[in-house]
Amino acid sequence: MRKKSSFFVIAFIILFLFTSCSKPVEPTNTISEKSLLITGDIEKEIEILGEADNIEWIEIEKDNEKYKAFNLQKFFELIDYDSNEYHFLFISTDGMKIKTDSGYDKINIFINSDGWNIFAPDFPPTINLRDLKEIVLIKNKTDLTSSTNIITQKADLLAFSPGKMRFENLTALNYKDGVSSKNNTYTIEAYKEKLVLPLSDKLSPSNNLLMTYDGGHYYIGNQGFLELKGNRINYIEPESRKIYFNIAGILINPPQKSVMDVYHDTVDFLEAKENVMVLYIDGLSLAQYNEAVRDNLIPFMGKLSSVEPATSVYKPVTNSGYAAMITGQPPFVNGILNRSYREPRVDTIFDYIDNINQTAILIEGNTNILSLNTEALLNTDKSNNGYTDDEVYEAALSQINNQNFALVHFHGYDDAGHTYGPYAKETMNKLTEIDGYVKNLVELWSGKIIITSDHGMHATEEGGSHGDFRYEDLIIPYIIIEGGL
Ligand SMILES: [Zn+2]
Ligand SMILES: [Zn+2]
Repeated sequence: MRKKSSFFVIAFIILFLFTSCSKPVEPTNTISEKSLLITGDIEKEIEILGEADNIEWIEIEKDNEKYKAFNLQKFFELIDYDSNEYHFLFISTDGMKIKTDSGYDKINIFINSDGWNIFAPDFPPTINLRDLKEIVLIKNKTDLTSSTNIITQKADLLAFSPGKMRFENLTALNYKDGVSSKNNTYTIEAYKEKLVLPLSDKLSPSNNLLMTYDGGHYYIGNQGFLELKGNRINYIEPESRKIYFNIAGILINPPQKSVMDVYHDTVDFLEAKENVMVLYIDGLSLAQYNEAVRDNLIPFMGKLSSVEPATSVYKPVTNSGYAAMITGQPPFVNGILNRSYREPRVDTIFDYIDNINQTAILIEGNTNILSLNTEALLNTDKSNNGYTDDEVYEAALSQINNQNFALVHFHGYDDAGHTYGPYAKETMNKLTEIDGYVKNLVELWSGKIIITSDHGMHATEEGGSHGDFRYEDLIIPYIIIEGGL
């Protein structure tokens, strides 16, 4: 028994020495120092070098030579990408492009002294590109989530992704980088060649709203270009020498109003000695509002004549829309880019009111969404009906008296929209209920009232969602009325 086990130990040690001495991959030729770029519809670009040790290298044999290689399918498993959701485009240094949509486990990328190459004997031989420069991921499904979208107030028109843009007929733009001269004698002009798509035929001549992924909010004309830059899409205006980086989308002919006007209108009204109440119905798009009016589901709000369309901000989620509402600034300025940010970098309407020695109240559901210099009156679901709207309404009834400013936040409509879908009966019933609260609060208030939302909602397979650059999420109603009707 003892003898047998020691034999195994020795055998194991020999085996171990043997395997650790012979390196798993021993290419017979020298390898190029060129890198291979993985780009397109990918969160972060990846540059692969032949010496990279975080890759599962294998050895392939081609024409009696051995090469260091990696398998395409294995590679994407390693970085947690489901390769089945993508097409792949292989681009060689000389401009050849090959597109595939399956069989990724049969595609190996190997490196030799010249660079990166494809080895895929199961495919037609044209796949065997030499001197590969890039592997581009192209998402199979056109969703509006990770693309750069061109929309109007009523339709989502076009969606560009960095991967798909590789198939547009992009043109080369000589972007003037600058002019310089030495001793006033020799002058040079510097240009940068950019791959672009002109947008003049797609946008309104003078009135478009561009939003960036970092919360920028800019009004632009139509003399610019979409620029493909690796895994990002920029917008370039050569005339004004402006580049907007990493754009979420462009809204053609945007509404005059924005959710940010809640701040500015409130300031204007308070300056004119009028009190202001904001009735904030979470997750109400203009499209949903219009549908509810058509179906006679909101007898009070449906009869108001001062309904205007307004834009939310990117990203159209509660934290960002709400922060834009109470700061009057886009996310790029107020710092609330998405749901993971809570502290505005600039003053809010509550700071403004505090500075002019007036009174304000914030009536919330069960959580503080942003951390503000004002205390929120929180309301838990005491009635146990799954929503806090009835409690928020009761609190507003007893607390809005004698305030110069009141902000009343109804959450239930957004919750119902997520669960049942933007146009489901349950969701619309919720709006009917809130319409009743709005009616009673409007009757009680003396001063101006702004009724609006933070963002809209679009339908999904599971129910509803928001947070994309699409009209359903970005266009909201904006209503100003007098209290005490
Ligand atoms: Zn919301
Ligand atoms: Zn929501």
